[in-house]
Amino acid sequence: MDLTFSETETAFRDELRAWLAANDPGAEPQGDEDEQYAWRRDWQRRLHEGGWAGVHWPTEYGGRGATLTQTAIFFEELGRARAPLPANVLGLLLGGPTLMVWGTDEQKDRHLAPILSAEEIWCQGFSEPDAGSDLAALKTRAVKDGDSWVVTGQKVWTSGAQYAKWCMLVARTDTEAAKHKGLTYFLMDMEQDAVQVRPLRQITGEAEFNELFIEEARIPDANVVGGVGNGWKVALTTLMNERAGLAFFLQVRLRQLLDDLLAEAGRRGALEDAVVADRLAALHIRCETLRLMAWKGLSAIERYGQPGPEGSLTKWLWSETNQQLVALAADVLGADAHTAGSPWAYELLRARGNSIEGGTTEILKNIVAERVLGLPRLQTAA
Ligand SMILES: Cc1cc2nc3c(=O)[nH]c(=O)nc-3n(C[C@H](O)[C@H](O)[C@H](O)COP(=O)(O)OP(=O)(O)OC[C@H]3O[C@@H](n4cnc5c(N)ncnc54)[C@H](O)[C@@H]3O)c2cc1C
Repeated sequence: MDLTFSETETAFRDELRAWLAANDPGAEPQGDEDEQYAWRRDWQRRLHEGGWAGVHWPTEYGGRGATLTQTAIFFEELGRARAPLPANVLGLLLGGPTLMVWGTDEQKDRHLAPILSAEEIWCQGFSEPDAGSDLAALKTRAVKDGDSWVVTGQKVWTSGAQYAKWCMLVARTDTEAAKHKGLTYFLMDMEQDAVQVRPLRQITGEAEFNELFIEEARIPDANVVGGVGNGWKVALTTLMNERAGLAFFLQVRLRQLLDDLLAEAGRRGALEDAVVADRLAALHIRCETLRLMAWKGLSAIERYGQPGPEGSLTKWLWSETNQQLVALAADVLGADAHTAGSPWAYELLRARGNSIEGGTTEILKNIVAERVLGLPRLQTAA
């Protein structure tokens, strides 16, 4: 593909750069997670007011109707300006696009606008204590009662649930059907007593995600997305968007971390060490590869109309590269990388989750082997 920007694309980038220069999100508040979240929510409101929330959404849904290249430019520029991701990232990147494919007109009318403005925050209720990678093994049950569904079960690792109004919930509606076929995708209102959210503290000290205890929650029929029993297919749309959507922003963040590490290594005289120089060079090559892969992923979306399994390769390589980068930082900075308050200490601890969130590395490798390389399916002993 041609990576030279057209006049329109350059004009889009310049307009965005000027807007970002005039709308500095300011420094992230330190320490308090609620304040940090409020800061990111305010940032999304400002993006929305400026017409920059959901740039990739069609104009009929309140987006900017940006082309794929402009969307890539948007995320690259956001990263370059060191601006945060919008607070409702799961709504913008996963929930909205899933509704655009599978939602009814009423669902789109009701939900898309408040996702864009960050008025209503979304979370993703897929994982359960015994159903993470094997999503189809989930046990949360939804039973029809009149014109609504009664839901009981437990979810886990639900990022942002403490701030969410809506949950993309997958539940079992047919216990007799084959395990992939008995699932339904719902939009569950989190603001009901039947839904309890309990924070899980991570190794970083933050509680980004939660356990959800659901005890006879009510979901109206109108909140079924994509039809009863079709939840597996709808969930796959969400998962494919999860793996493809963040590629641009994340690869820019990776590049910035690498630049920071390079500067730090220079200050400490570590560039004289051939092993450090070699590891930095390898990371530079990986960052460039990821940038080009993100572009390649875009041309695949252009061709096939939706993200493909290639997103799994990008996500896997991104998580490995980020982990290698923070490991090198720990070697270069020594004890300084582990001191409380050091940004590297946070990066080092947070990077552990990269190879689990959004699909574990083992699962992504299986997808790449089977669906990208066309290798035979792994035979497991009965
Ligand atoms: C930071 C973070 C945020 C998250 N946010 C959310 C969220 O918002 N919403 C949500 O629903 N979930 C979320 N998750 C959960 C995440 O999607 C799951 O942790 C993930 O899917 C793995 O599931 P599991 O933890 O049950 O591990 P398991 O599926 O039990 O896997 C354990 C190990 O076995 C391996 N394994 C399992 N099956 C196979 C196989 N067939 N072949 C080879 N290896 C296999 C796995 O790769 C892994 O290494 C989050 C996780 C993290 C770390």
